[in-house]
Amino acid sequence: MTKFKFMIAALVLIGLSAAGQEATQQAVPASQTTNVANGVSVVATGTPTTMDALIDRIIQREHALMAMLNGHTPLVETYLQDVKMDPVMGISPRADHYFLGKMDLGATVERRDFLSKDSSMESSMLGGITRLFKFEYHPMGFSWMIFADRENFDKEHYDFQYVRREFLGNVRCLLFEVKPKPKSGNGRFEGRIWVEDQDFNIVRLNGTFVPRPRNAYFFHMDSWRLNVVPGFWVPAYVYSEEGDFSYGAKENKVAFKAQTRLWSYQLGKDDRNSELTEMLVDSSVKDDSPATQDYSPLQAQRQWQQQAEDNVLERLQKAGLLAPAGDIDKVLETVANNLLITNNVELPRPVRARVMLTSPLETFSVGNTIVVSRGLLDVLPDEACLAMVISHELGHIVLGHNTGSKYGFSDRMVFSDQATYRNMGFSHSPQEEDQADQKALDLLKNSPYSPKLDSAGLFLKQLVDRSQGLTALLTPHLGNSFTDDKGVVRRMAALMNSSPALEPNKLSQVAALPLGGRVRLNPWDNHVELIKAAPVAIITARDKMPFEVTPFFPRLTRYGMAEDQSASATSPDATPTKDQGGPN
Ligand SMILES: [Zn+2]
Repeated sequence: MTKFKFMIAALVLIGLSAAGQEATQQAVPASQTTNVANGVSVVATGTPTTMDALIDRIIQREHALMAMLNGHTPLVETYLQDVKMDPVMGISPRADHYFLGKMDLGATVERRDFLSKDSSMESSMLGGITRLFKFEYHPMGFSWMIFADRENFDKEHYDFQYVRREFLGNVRCLLFEVKPKPKSGNGRFEGRIWVEDQDFNIVRLNGTFVPRPRNAYFFHMDSWRLNVVPGFWVPAYVYSEEGDFSYGAKENKVAFKAQTRLWSYQLGKDDRNSELTEMLVDSSVKDDSPATQDYSPLQAQRQWQQQAEDNVLERLQKAGLLAPAGDIDKVLETVANNLLITNNVELPRPVRARVMLTSPLETFSVGNTIVVSRGLLDVLPDEACLAMVISHELGHIVLGHNTGSKYGFSDRMVFSDQATYRNMGFSHSPQEEDQADQKALDLLKNSPYSPKLDSAGLFLKQLVDRSQGLTALLTPHLGNSFTDDKGVVRRMAALMNSSPALEPNKLSQVAALPLGGRVRLNPWDNHVELIKAAPVAIITARDKMPFEVTPFFPRLTRYGMAEDQSASATSPDATPTKDQGGPN
């Protein structure tokens, strides 16, 4: 077998230097065809006929994925809740941590550093990251859980045992047990992999890393990939959990649940230099609509604010922090317009809305654009709660709080992506916050949401109930928080006065949702859409999980297969497009 593999490698080399791909394909059996781009073996077609050849293919596809992702620098966000046992609500957050960084998928990951240096969870888990967006270090801990083994995923180091076929979502998979061979070194993957049965890419990994060196932790992980580019399944979600709350279990030194999300692969492809944005051209002045009159000073002022608003949105989108304009924006804009129309408020420019891609619960507005974080959209139980969130920002807009005029200067958009939070901020003074709240209450009172505001008040009560353990989730990075600097929920607090009491045991009362339930994010191009999940009956108070981290279970579909198409839909194109060097 070794000799056979060597021969193929030799043939590929000959094929490259002589007649190219065609010669290669003639020279090797169909099941072993290898296309070569940029010196990297990227894809093989044909179906392996033996288990041995199949495992070779899985390994080859895994290496092809690493090669394809080389040079991409996705954002990686980990939100972690330390958990405790609550007698009513079950396992609940007691403290939380938030990390956001950029991962260089071209760099070698020093796996040994993972939680080995420091006993403190926070710093060691990060391999040294101490601040948000501090990119000097690789976000070690959770980032390398996207691969089973970056260096030695091969038959020399691992045994593969076929278990069975299994569907994950719409995708038929082969399930394998993977075990490191004896004496193959520390920190090897042990667990199960799901491999889709057309191209034999790994779509899910579930397990941990063994053996554990002294003074080191390896967490358990459930790592999911999505087929968001032709031919490749890209790492998107990692769920980790530690701790044992079963009766009689020994003390939990480490007990947490964590969600890691990766996105912005496509944008991240840019090289370091182009991370510094070019000067942005004012997009609000269009050539094809010539002004028939000169601008008055007030109009000039508004044009300037429009320019500032456009600059900010463009810059945030380029940093991977803002989703491209999409359908969710329309939902948010409809709510905003419902509030404006029923209050007879006419604004000189239309209100727009966008989704920020991060988890912390925050909103801000820049000019006439309201921005709501993905994490906040996730946990809002209904439209009245959304109206409560939007009305506050609308308050700022109506009261003219959002001057933001300094961003009208293009040079203020020139900074590296990781410096975004240091260079931009849209928070308001406590006085303006109170004024916006007051205006928001007026807007809500006259709106169709007026009779439904009980749920908004309940949402805030749930936030009060949980706020002590959710400091990281409640820390905004661009806007204002729901809480004041003492951690007291302040935003729209008046709504709590008239709302019913929070009753954890009342199953019909769902004040806030778990994280991750509403917004689906395409990790490649950052598009967002609303998740269509059927409502699931709540059986116990522990099912409510307000603001909590849960495992991921994305419904997998193949690339190009529309959301609700059945299995009879056109077979997806399984082969990479164009240059086979992978999408750019
Ligand atoms: Zn505000």
